[in-house]
Amino acid sequence: MEATLPRTTFTKENAAFPFCKGCGHHHYVKHLDEAFVSLQLDPKQVCIVSDIGCIGILDSLFAEPHTFHTTHGRSTAFATGIALADGILHDAKLKTVVVIGDGGATIGLLHLVNAALMNIDVTVVLANNFLYGMTGGQHSQFSPLEFVTPTTPAGNIVPPMDICSIMKSCGATYIRQASATDKNLGTIIGEAIAHPGFAIVEVLELCTEWATPFNKIDGKMLTGSVHHNDSGGVPERKDFSSLYKEKVLGAPKRPSDDTIVPHYTSPLRGSRRIVLAGTAGEKVQLASFLYMKSAIASGLHATQKNDNPVTQGSGFSLSELCVSSDDILYTGIDRPDAVIIASADGLKEVRANGTLARCTPDSIVVAEQTLPEFECAGKVSRLPLRAVCTGSRAALSALAALNVAKGWVSQDALWEMIDGKFKEKSAAFHRDIEALMPFIKI
Ligand code: SF4
Ligand SMILES: [Mg+2]
Repeated sequence: MEATLPRTTFTKENAAFPFCKGCGHHHYVKHLDEAFVSLQLDPKQVCIVSDIGCIGILDSLFAEPHTFHTTHGRSTAFATGIALADGILHDAKLKTVVVIGDGGATIGLLHLVNAALMNIDVTVVLANNFLYGMTGGQHSQFSPLEFVTPTTPAGNIVPPMDICSIMKSCGATYIRQASATDKNLGTIIGEAIAHPGFAIVEVLELCTEWATPFNKIDGKMLTGSVHHNDSGGVPERKDFSSLYKEKVLGAPKRPSDDTIVPHYTSPLRGSRRIVLAGTAGEKVQLASFLYMKSAIASGLHATQKNDNPVTQGSGFSLSELCVSSDDILYTGIDRPDAVIIASADGLKEVRANGTLARCTPDSIVVAEQTLPEFECAGKVSRLPLRAVCTGSRAALSALAALNVAKGWVSQDALWEMIDGKFKEKSAAFHRDIEALMPFIKI
């Protein structure tokens, strides 16, 4: 059997580094490659997720690992998605490494925060050269005080953020800082990649194009400013995917009251599309929901779409229902089969949104008796909804009365839903229907 030779590099043969002379990114790439080599990873189990900026073009230097070049600041979010898919849906073997600069980390800070909070199994190797190198040397939120850049010509007067402290406050369990020339950087990055859960390595670097010409900064100063272990004292915890599998996927199934097993039948063939319109707080959308459930209990397909003003508790409340013996491929309502208008707010809305104008001579319109006249091509029945049912039962009682007349869903199923929801108070709905039926002219 042929022995597999240890891999000595993951970069392309004779790869020409695209960075300026003396740029810290040369060291970064070398140490990242060392880390891959030290772990002897299968290149197909490595995903490099790169950001915008000079460091982001390193993915062209790697031949076999997966590389994914993303938008500015968002690499950690993409990596989080990749690690989630691998950790929960697949075999959790992928090593996902984010290659990001201080500019990207500034722009996408919340993605880093979220990844650290989740403890997602992603390794962020942050190249911090204190400025936006690729776009002209502008200062970043990592620039030290007095740092001179084209956007801080008199020296930066805003203190830099400390990403290691931020990550620590988010519970990151592996945080290291090192300079790009640190001989141990490859080992540190290797440890970070092997760490189960979120890990971040902040690599302090020199930008020889924009930093060293204007600031007293050199490699020794960077090395001297490094604090080596920032995650001391942070309690160990399981990575997100492991925890999710254990606590969410592995949780005993809760008895759920939203699983509906059809146990009634309906004679309906085809679909019926119903608009309910009334006043917020008067159970319009609940009426629609109970009808949808009773349709499903009757062996039908059903959809519900709700609408109300942003204020939720005032103005109109609207619901669009579709019940059908066939799959529902379109949930909109071009021509309503029925429209229920339980209040003046509801009338105003079905006028405004064009529902009434889309009624045909076959459309059934059940409207509160006291509403003003309105133009509509449908067959209109005026019912004393508010006098008999009060506002809070008007929509559901009108819908139930319509169903008694048309039988689109099993009436037994509908009563089961109403009785189950309102318990001893459901007797009022039974009385409502009896009182309303003589007014329905269909
Ligand atoms: S501009 Fe700065 S960060 Fe970019 S490659 Fe040149 S030295 Fe490196
Ligand atoms: Mg930078």
